[in-house]
Amino acid sequence: MKWKSQIQNLKAYQPGKTMDDVKELFNLEKVVKLASNENPFGCSRNVENYLKNNALSHALYPDGYAKELRFKVAEHLSVEPGQLLFGNGSDEVIEIISRALLDGGKSTVMATPTFPQYKHNAIVEGSEVREVPLDAEGKHQLAKMLEEIDDTTSVVWLCSPNNPTGEYIRNGELISFLDAVPAHVLVVLDEAYYEYVVADDYYDSLELLKSYPQLLITRTFSKAYGLAGFRVGFGIGNKDIIGKLEPIREPFNNNTLAQGAASAAIEDQAFIDECRRENRKGLEQYYRFCEEHGLSYVPSQANFILIDFGVSGDEVFQYLMSKGYIVRSGEALGYPHSVRITVGSHDQNEEVIEKMTEFLLLQKQA
Ligand SMILES: *Cc1c(COP(=O)(O)O)cnc(C)c1O
Repeated sequence: MKWKSQIQNLKAYQPGKTMDDVKELFNLEKVVKLASNENPFGCSRNVENYLKNNALSHALYPDGYAKELRFKVAEHLSVEPGQLLFGNGSDEVIEIISRALLDGGKSTVMATPTFPQYKHNAIVEGSEVREVPLDAEGKHQLAKMLEEIDDTTSVVWLCSPNNPTGEYIRNGELISFLDAVPAHVLVVLDEAYYEYVVADDYYDSLELLKSYPQLLITRTFSKAYGLAGFRVGFGIGNKDIIGKLEPIREPFNNNTLAQGAASAAIEDQAFIDECRRENRKGLEQYYRFCEEHGLSYVPSQANFILIDFGVSGDEVFQYLMSKGYIVRSGEALGYPHSVRITVGSHDQNEEVIEKMTEFLLLQKQA
């Protein structure tokens, strides 16, 4: 068969072990998953109420324009409904952007390590991928990224807070970058963790959208909103850009229940505020642990933390998994001596910290 040459070596996404797998493998009663940055508090009560009353209507196609959701999100963000592009998760928004703007003649610029789907989609489209290492603190080097842009470049990907570091782009840095980026480049700003940010010098991307029409923001219902299982993400951009991307989108890409669940979730901002507060307290638990044990970590604006154990991340990961705590090894994330841990509930954090303390003790004894 005539496969695209660039997909020859492409690997399928490797899902981690499921909670049931781990239970069985290690004969455990309880397993806690702190690996995919899901919300430990679930989602808003509004969503449960919606599902209780609407779970039985499956015969009809969903609304292909996601009108109710679109209008609610538009109102919440004070943008126009035509400035939104909905995807089956922001993963699909990334795919749509890639299909629309990348091909064999184009190049695309991104940080490394960062969210892997930018590169993955660029490879599928046959584009040249230019990766600029994060600095030692885990931040984007925007000046160096600018240097990688030329006439062939169609998309630059920025992730802020960045996955897997949790670092973010400062307001002044982003503005200087946007002032310098050539007009033919789409700047995608992935804000999957937007709701968790508390830093004063985080930019206001929706405000920047008014002055920089080449900007496209992506957000998701998968993280703080606690709806990862429903797959709803969206892009926010100027109408001309969204208008170009819309025809690439599959007509019924968000199912009926997902649209309803997301519509219910966005109405409960008190839940989001509470999750943001709890998340900060949770991060403090990890900061304290790191400081007590002299471990270096990246201060996070997201709901996860990257901790450097100075040994193979796989080793830490394996130990924690055997005790029922699933985290992400940094080996596959570009930080081989680290693990990335999703901030859980207070008790979950205490428990995994206890296991990590045990691990460190065993290391000392060995
Ligand atoms: C989790 C994540 C996404 C994907 O979110 P979905 O909306 O669930 O597809 C996108 N970007 C980053 C940086 C993420 O961490």
